[in-house]
Amino acid sequence: MGFRYWLHVVLDLLFPSTCAACRMPVSGSLCLCAGCMADVRYLHSPLCVRCGALFAAGNGGDHICGACLRRPPPFVLARAVVLYAPPVSTLLQRLKYGGDRTVLSTLTHLAVPFDLTPFASCDLIIPVPLHRKRLRERGLNQSLLLAHGFFSQDAQVIRPDILVRTRDTAPQTRLGGKERRKNLRSAFAVTRRADICGRSVCLVDDVLTTGATVIECAGALMRAGAGEIKVLTMARAVESMIVGPAGKETGRG
Ligand SMILES: [Zn+2]
Ligand SMILES: [Zn+2]
Repeated sequence: MGFRYWLHVVLDLLFPSTCAACRMPVSGSLCLCAGCMADVRYLHSPLCVRCGALFAAGNGGDHICGACLRRPPPFVLARAVVLYAPPVSTLLQRLKYGGDRTVLSTLTHLAVPFDLTPFASCDLIIPVPLHRKRLRERGLNQSLLLAHGFFSQDAQVIRPDILVRTRDTAPQTRLGGKERRKNLRSAFAVTRRADICGRSVCLVDDVLTTGATVIECAGALMRAGAGEIKVLTMARAVESMIVGPAGKETGRG
């Protein structure tokens, strides 16, 4: 527990009713102020029925995007709860880099209107793993904590022990889609093949940006014999693209 964690704990004790994102006072038991709450962007149709990429408004109903048609990703479904923008990006960064677990209840609360049904039916829930070195540095895996937030009733099927990150890859933040996939090549391995053989898996991550991470993870799980993979992320970057497992950039889907 770092200094920032305890600072937040003390602040929260002294000022119990502040917005979880901007720290402005809020009334009652609300976790976000009205201004921040108004900025939360849930993702709505029209979107790609497979990868969840957003289509420009007026582009008809949900349909499969060109990228998924040309090069189907190794998962059958990917969805995000909200768009990656403040206040959610602020909360996720605070969790990921500041070790602040107090934002979790707000993130879980924001996921309440989101339909988890297609994911709750999966046999196993697997968070995207961190390399053990980075896990030691951060003290938490944000994807595992989010998985527990999304599926609080299904703790027994949340399995952080099946998929491991075997390489401590460079941070992805400044890399483009192509570099991200190169950076991640063979970065994940399945340790318990027998446990996933033929099983459906819900892969959980915090943010989907280019899709490179979940494509690598889903690929590793499928090669190890998983039945099918669905991807659930808390947020989706507005510029997010879904690209094939080994191909060139296929553009916005
Ligand atoms: Zn606020
Ligand atoms: Zn698509």
